[in-house]
Amino acid sequence: MPKVNTKKVTWEEVENWCKKLSEIILESKWMPDIIIAISRGGYVPARLICDLLVVGELVSIQITHWPSAAQMAKEAGVKHPLQCDLSIKKALIVDDIADTGDSIIIAKDHIWTYCRPKELKVATLQWISKVSKVKPDYYAEEVKEWIWYQYPWTRLEDIVGFIRKIIEEEKEIRSWDLDIISKKIIEYYGVEFDKWYYEKALNYLTEKGFLKREEGKYIR
Ligand code: AMP
Repeated sequence: MPKVNTKKVTWEEVENWCKKLSEIILESKWMPDIIIAISRGGYVPARLICDLLVVGELVSIQITHWPSAAQMAKEAGVKHPLQCDLSIKKALIVDDIADTGDSIIIAKDHIWTYCRPKELKVATLQWISKVSKVKPDYYAEEVKEWIWYQYPWTRLEDIVGFIRKIIEEEKEIRSWDLDIISKKIIEYYGVEFDKWYYEKALNYLTEKGFLKREEGKYIR
């Protein structure tokens, strides 16, 4: 059993989930005039949903999570606001996943307050029903047990995070190469990636000073 329940998502799955979402939206007889992507996770699905519903307007709002002063937990907030008048438009917020649901809550609140849409709904690829504080109006998949969805648009970013965590935990391993990294990623996350990503991730961590390069190996 891997330590972190992880699903490596393919582009084909993304396309199928977006097709499914577009069909559910069409069947509901509700059609948005404009789509609002929650950046950055919602960008790719939002663009595909625009295509599949033939919606010509796409804007975004960026929500980020940062450590709150009082707690170790991360607090979400608006990094790049959306400032436009949506009073004559029906708007659909699109994100990749509703996990805690905080991003959606903050985006909805901001959009209602500053853009005043005629109607506002939410669509996500995944909805983690056990933990999310909100239920999206439309979702392609209900997820009952928490999983980290390794979407193709965060592949390198996630692999950098995976490697950093593994190296920090495995203090007795002094030197690293692509083979050990590959084995440990399978052990921790139960998934495998193209070695191209491991090389890019190790180079990135070296540039950032987290690792050093010595005789073809990476040293912490
Ligand atoms: P939330 O906790 O619902 O505010 O999620 C914020 C963002 O973090 C999501 O839009 C995703 O981009 C990312 N994220 C949160 N949980 C997961 C997960 N279980 N798998 C993949 N990405 C996630």
